Amino acid sequence: MIYSGYMKTTNNNFVLVGNHIVIDFVNTQIMEDALLVELLSTQEDLKSWCESVDYELDKDITSDELASVIELRQCIYNCLNASNNQDDIAKINEYISKHRPNNLLTFNKAQNSFNLTHERCAHTIESLLGKLAYECAKLLCSDQVKNIKNCSNPHCVLMFLDTSRTKKRRWCSMEICGNRAKAAKHYKKQLS
Ligand SMILES: [Zn+2]
Repeated sequence: MIYSGYMKTTNNNFVLVGNHIVIDFVNTQIMEDALLVELLSTQEDLKSWCESVDYELDKDITSDELASVIELRQCIYNCLNASNNQDDIAKINEYISKHRPNNLLTFNKAQNSFNLTHERCAHTIESLLGKLAYECAKLLCSDQVKNIKNCSNPHCVLMFLDTSRTKKRRWCSMEICGNRAKAAKHYKKQLS
């Protein structure tokens, strides 16, 4: 068991090691016993993931919405892994067009000044996907793009944004893959 005791496909065991919501989103697929495990198998799973990233949904999720989530996640995963497939980009753009941050310009007479307020957005799956697509595009076009890394464990599919000062982070997390690598190295040393 690769992620022994740490991850299960039950609710609330999502891996939030990405340092970025978009990377945490693609990390909803993990490897367990050399098999790819889907952490967003059901509408209930998706609801739990939304809760784990503090995204409060206004209503229940439909099966079509779950399918859209999985579809967009694949496009984002491909782009984060340096694919520049036009279909992936088109799909991300389709969702960017649904990103409506609901900023509102108002004029405050008493203060005699303009204010820009952030009205509470409708918390729907569509607006979540719009936000994820937009954040993904921003990330891909930022200086941070070079710090998007895959875990050094070849049996791990997790990604992360390396925000360390030295930019030498190698593992999704020390607890999951770092310690395993360290233990394997130690074991090898003892054998030699
Ligand atoms: Zn890993």
